[in-house]
Amino acid sequence: MTLGSLPSYDSTAVETIGDHAVVVGASMAGLLAGRVLADGYERVTILDRDPLPDEPVARRGVPQAVHAHVMLEPARSMLETLFPGYLDDLTDAGGITIDTARELEYHHDGGFVADGLDSVPMYCASRPLFEQLTRRHASETATVTLRPETHVTGLASDEDAERVTGVRYREDDSETTLSADLVVDARGRNSPVPAWLENHGYPEPETETVSVDVGYATTRIERPPEETTTMLVGTSPPTTQGGAVIPIENDQWMVTLSGLHGEYPPTDPEAFMACAEGLPVSHVADILAANERVAEIRPYRFPSSTRRRYEQLESFPDGLLVTGDALASFNPVYGQGMSVAALDALQLHAALTDGTDELAPRFFERAADVIEPVWQLTVGSDFAHDATTGPKPPGTDLFNRYMDRLIPTAHDNDYVAEELKRVIRLQQDPTKLLAPGVLARVVAPNWLTS
Ligand SMILES: Cc1cc2nc3c(=O)[nH]c(=O)nc-3n(C[C@H](O)[C@H](O)[C@H](O)COP(=O)(O)OP(=O)(O)OC[C@H]3O[C@@H](n4cnc5c(N)ncnc54)[C@H](O)[C@@H]3O)c2cc1C
Repeated sequence: MTLGSLPSYDSTAVETIGDHAVVVGASMAGLLAGRVLADGYERVTILDRDPLPDEPVARRGVPQAVHAHVMLEPARSMLETLFPGYLDDLTDAGGITIDTARELEYHHDGGFVADGLDSVPMYCASRPLFEQLTRRHASETATVTLRPETHVTGLASDEDAERVTGVRYREDDSETTLSADLVVDARGRNSPVPAWLENHGYPEPETETVSVDVGYATTRIERPPEETTTMLVGTSPPTTQGGAVIPIENDQWMVTLSGLHGEYPPTDPEAFMACAEGLPVSHVADILAANERVAEIRPYRFPSSTRRRYEQLESFPDGLLVTGDALASFNPVYGQGMSVAALDALQLHAALTDGTDELAPRFFERAADVIEPVWQLTVGSDFAHDATTGPKPPGTDLFNRYMDRLIPTAHDNDYVAEELKRVIRLQQDPTKLLAPGVLARVVAPNWLTS
């Protein structure tokens, strides 16, 4: 399931079901979950170990924040729905909205994908600005409190660990317990919940790991205020390096180069430029050459996409949920993490409409429904590269052979381009690419030419 097949958020659908919900982690997943929980709990407290100023800062707890973050449709639409005024604030802060059909240049598999048919907006800004405004709007929700500089050290539970009853956090030199009816773990991909489960006699969730060994290198360059060029250069075999040029606030572009399977882009300025020149199209290098660099070049390494199968567990304590990257963390080159966090929040909302009975299994089942197609898309694309290792979803090789024909068709066929872009933007399931209208244009292009 993706955005188009899920029921919309309905602010009147959730009744008050508890007194206090605590969210651990005030990054995108935690903030979105916190806002949704505010519909059902009298109070929501969101804790983070970092300072959380009302400024667009790259925090220590979110080291990926200095790198390009593409915001796909689920995150955009959920932010707009949950936080009225978000777009105005983004625009006031220098963020930009582009039309993904006509203004996003997407190069993949030897050509630029055609515009497509629909005008779909995409917000463009730095990740710290996206997060600052999400944080501001979440904290302005009447019953939500943010507690920065609060390092959570563990979960509190009843004697048999059948119910999580709160969290323990470090305060001065001692540990304090904060009680809660519900704790939501949004501590990112290194979430310690699996270890906590094991230590308390529960099975750990099965973890699927698909190794991609991705390297990033990112800088910012000056941007003439009227220029909004936005570009993604994908990595289809044999190409292992790609790039992104995203217009952001302060009249800048963020330029990220990426490389799969150890083909890390360099951080030395001359080598970075040479790497951009080596991409299948010269556009990224041209923009880099024509504009002043205003930031150092920062690296990042991402070893593997990781999915924890909480929905398969037969026993799990009451009063605890896990969301965001802690559930599934995807190869970042596809730009999906914030949007899956948003879809998790939408599924949390849907689960809360049925109260708190069996909340964890119901939520994990729903979250799995939204993670599944994104996982297939991500690891499926990564398995097009021979060096990718890990559990391969059934049907991947066949689907990839089909995509080898579909993407070149999308270079000059707006109908196919539209369907492809709707999948990439996480508006519809990848299976829609097998619908007769697409299939016919891919396998028999001479019959249907538009
Ligand atoms: C290089 C890179 C590029 C990416 N690009 C994109 C992109 O283009 N588009 C996109 O949508 N997504 C992208 N992502 C993914 C995106 O950053 C995440 O999916 C998104 O931040 C949601 O993650 P999260 O909130 O679950 O966890 P995180 O962002 O990892 O946040 C975890 C939070 O938990 C806090 N925390 C951890 N431990 C504790 C503790 N003990 N006590 C209190 N607080 C704690 C941390 O301080 C942090 O705030 C990218 C990721 C990477 C690595």
